[in-house]
Amino acid sequence: MKSNSRPVIVAGAGPVGMSAAADLVRQGIPVLVLEKNATLSLESRASTFHPSTLDMLDDLGFAKTLISEGLIAPKVQYGSMIDGELGTFDFADISDLTRHPYRLQAEQFKLTRIILDALKDHPLFEIRFDSEVTAIRQDDDGVEIDLGGAANETLRCDWLIGADGANSIVRRAQDIEFTGFTWPERFLVVTTPFDVYSVHPDVTSVSYWADPDRWHFFLKIIGAWRIMTPVAADVSDELATSDAFARNSVARALPGVENVPIEHVTLYRVHQRVAGNFRKGRTFLAGDAAHINNPLGGMGMNGGIHDALNLTALLGPVIQGAQPSGTLDAYDRQRRAVTMDAIQVGTIKNKRNLEAKTEEDREAFKKEIREAMTDKEKGRALLRRISMIESLDRAASL
Ligand SMILES: Cc1cc2nc3c(=O)[nH]c(=O)nc-3n(C[C@H](O)[C@H](O)[C@H](O)COP(=O)(O)OP(=O)(O)OC[C@H]3O[C@@H](n4cnc5c(N)ncnc54)[C@H](O)[C@@H]3O)c2cc1C
Repeated sequence: MKSNSRPVIVAGAGPVGMSAAADLVRQGIPVLVLEKNATLSLESRASTFHPSTLDMLDDLGFAKTLISEGLIAPKVQYGSMIDGELGTFDFADISDLTRHPYRLQAEQFKLTRIILDALKDHPLFEIRFDSEVTAIRQDDDGVEIDLGGAANETLRCDWLIGADGANSIVRRAQDIEFTGFTWPERFLVVTTPFDVYSVHPDVTSVSYWADPDRWHFFLKIIGAWRIMTPVAADVSDELATSDAFARNSVARALPGVENVPIEHVTLYRVHQRVAGNFRKGRTFLAGDAAHINNPLGGMGMNGGIHDALNLTALLGPVIQGAQPSGTLDAYDRQRRAVTMDAIQVGTIKNKRNLEAKTEEDREAFKKEIREAMTDKEKGRALLRRISMIESLDRAASL
């Protein structure tokens, strides 16, 4: 067995694992990150950072650089293809609750790169690429981790954080259930350099549009727009990822706009699943390893970073002997509860609102947005909820 003197191993160098590692290093705790791939991922995935997450990343010293590489979105808009614009909300209305009263549109790979650049020469930090965790075992004193492939060795640590994504081996190796369901439709994200403002000047850089036939949402990133729509179960992957299908999806969202240039197309299956426990003895699950949800509301990566920093705030003092290990029970209690109540319920509700088919459901969505537009306190409540400030406050109260 190869020795590892670092008390914490993090499986997975995604945004969640890297945030956890950064906070442990900040607390003076040595950490080893194991990443199965040869490099950090450059995949086009999450691109929204909420105000609450930016506040946390600011405490870690990464927000300024991330903001300099992203696009500030001060407003969020809701509309309906039947009723037109329903309401636009300005995060300035909750500027007393956050140091970052806006969403930041920046790809998640920018955050992982910024964190790695900051930590790579730090003596408390080590990352090993090409190091896939293939099995784990734990006893009262620690956790053994088998690495497959070329590494083919076993490491030991005191605590293991499984931030190894939706197919988490840390979760599967311990038979922790991952209950929930998979939506029948897939989601398509079309990235285009086409200037949406040229035909839709009133749209904001985050804008959700309900449509009983095919909802869509616009998300502006630097130099491009992302347009997301659902794809019916009977459409083949091949057809759904063709340029023609992507152009047709954009034309539905922007009537009269034909033949936009396509930069990138992502088609993916969407699940709502939560792990049965976020802690088992000396191992923890965080981020997609612990929960996955649809991306409407941008709560997946953000919720995962919230997990990571909740966990490290509890784990650091335990490792340093300032708190008993029993305090770690708060992690599952707090983060699993808000994952169930806020992230799962919230993202399912966001999807239901956008696809509302009955007059009654459409009216309920319209009423909620219009009331939040006219009643200042309801507007602030909506902004607290979508910024994930509400879920952090709730977790802290549990
Ligand atoms: C198209 C798309 C759009 C999205 N948009 C948003 C959004 O706007 N906002 C939002 O909040 N979320 C969004 N999400 C979700 C978001 O991307 C995920 O929630 C986020 O990536 C989770 O981060 P993570 O670090 O937990 O897992 P991952 O990013 O999946 O990282 C896991 C890491 O672990 C590594 N790994 C896996 N298995 C092993 C192993 N056995 N050993 C070692 N390493 C391993 C992987 O290689 C990877 O580097 C989106 C997702 C998709 C697909």
